[in-house]
Amino acid sequence: MAEQPELVVHNSLTRQKERFEPLNPALVRMYVCGPTVYDYAHIGNARPIIVFDVLFRLLRHLYGPEHVKYVRNITDVDDKINARAAEDGVPISEITARTIRQFHEDISALNVLPPSVEPRATEHIAAMQEMIEKLIEKGCAYVAEGHVLYDVTADPDYGILSKRTLDEMIAGARVEVAPYKKNPMDFVLWKPSKEGEPAWDSPWGPGRPGWHIECSAMSWKHLGETFDIHGGGIDLQFPHHENEIAQSTCAHGQPFMAKYWMHNGFLQVEGEKMSKSLGNFITIHELLEEWPGEVLRLNMLRTHYRAPIDWTRKGLEESRKVLDRLYRAVGEAGPAEKPDTGVLAALCDDLNTPRAIAELHRLAKEGRAAELKASANLLGLLPMTADEWFAATAPKVEIDEAEIERLIAERAEARKRKDFATADRIRDELAAKGIVLKDSPQGTTWEVKR
Ligand code: AMP
Ligand code: ZN
Repeated sequence: MAEQPELVVHNSLTRQKERFEPLNPALVRMYVCGPTVYDYAHIGNARPIIVFDVLFRLLRHLYGPEHVKYVRNITDVDDKINARAAEDGVPISEITARTIRQFHEDISALNVLPPSVEPRATEHIAAMQEMIEKLIEKGCAYVAEGHVLYDVTADPDYGILSKRTLDEMIAGARVEVAPYKKNPMDFVLWKPSKEGEPAWDSPWGPGRPGWHIECSAMSWKHLGETFDIHGGGIDLQFPHHENEIAQSTCAHGQPFMAKYWMHNGFLQVEGEKMSKSLGNFITIHELLEEWPGEVLRLNMLRTHYRAPIDWTRKGLEESRKVLDRLYRAVGEAGPAEKPDTGVLAALCDDLNTPRAIAELHRLAKEGRAAELKASANLLGLLPMTADEWFAATAPKVEIDEAEIERLIAERAEARKRKDFATADRIRDELAAKGIVLKDSPQGTTWEVKR
């Protein structure tokens, strides 16, 4: 593969940009932590989904689609799910099935490719138990009062990702103090279930897994003991990802879990942290009622993935205008064979999507419609033709067709008696409502334009 720019990614393990060298170029492997399914996903949750979708598209371009395996899990066993089911008085399976369906609808509107595998935690309980048994055998975990806990003091590398010492972790964390823990930072691998909670038989009594072991087990089953890229939001770096590393390296006796750890920055709304109590908690679903999915996607990609995003209405309006402009340039073009090298180089520089979008503007200006289409596809943008875009995004005006026909007839009358002032006034009034008249020898027709 000559002529390809070199891919460079920021590795959270070293806090540096590094050249991306897959463990096996014939199968590039990536794992990203997916949603916990108890409610509609919010727009912050869409960030890792979109960001790692761009990386997936780029890797497929660089290595060939059949040489990339992308695993994004679904966490369908969690205390939040149990709580929601109890609140709504419905079975857990109903909450998870409904939320998964909503999640898929939302992200398909964002033009996100399906991952190669989308494993569910509840389908991997045996793998989790197998790993927990190995951890106990190797002395990294212990059983106490029906719980199995990971012993952080048994792992000299604990803190390798978050770059904190145990003392700093204890000082900074809201740790759950429990009498059966040897160290306050020890975390749960398995815990007993209370009455009515989901439970699986295990050598330690009926219970359920902790959250961290879920990802270690699912990545192991689908990608192996070690793999290339592990992604997620920056909030997951500690403790979730730190704990995944501890579990996987100890269980498999490997020096590392993933070679590159990539984290997206956080999203806030109109300058404030998104939270239910502030009332600025926005779901993807709600946004899609007002905006085309592509506007949300572009709006996300106009900021570099590691920088924080301030999600604003103004930004969304700008993104819509950018798409109008790009679609006008792309017209009805089909994609070129190859994307533009400028766009590719920007993406290969640690997914520099703002620069890639600037390159798309350059292609638009130069009138290179086919290259624009092919390059935008790497970002999951411009999947439609211009006609489709403008038809899909035309403002939904309340059109009273009979009223329009009446005005057209009135205008025709005015023209007949050479009252052009009245005829023009009627035409302008309709134009102000987005209704454009077209005169022809057969008569006058109308259409809705923005
Ligand atoms: P959760 O369901 O909370 O485990 O989150 C699922 C994914 O969304 C994780 O990768 C989180 O890091 C990410 N995430 C959650 N909230 C935000 C936010 N406000 N901004 C960016 N990413 C977020
Ligand atoms: Zn995870």
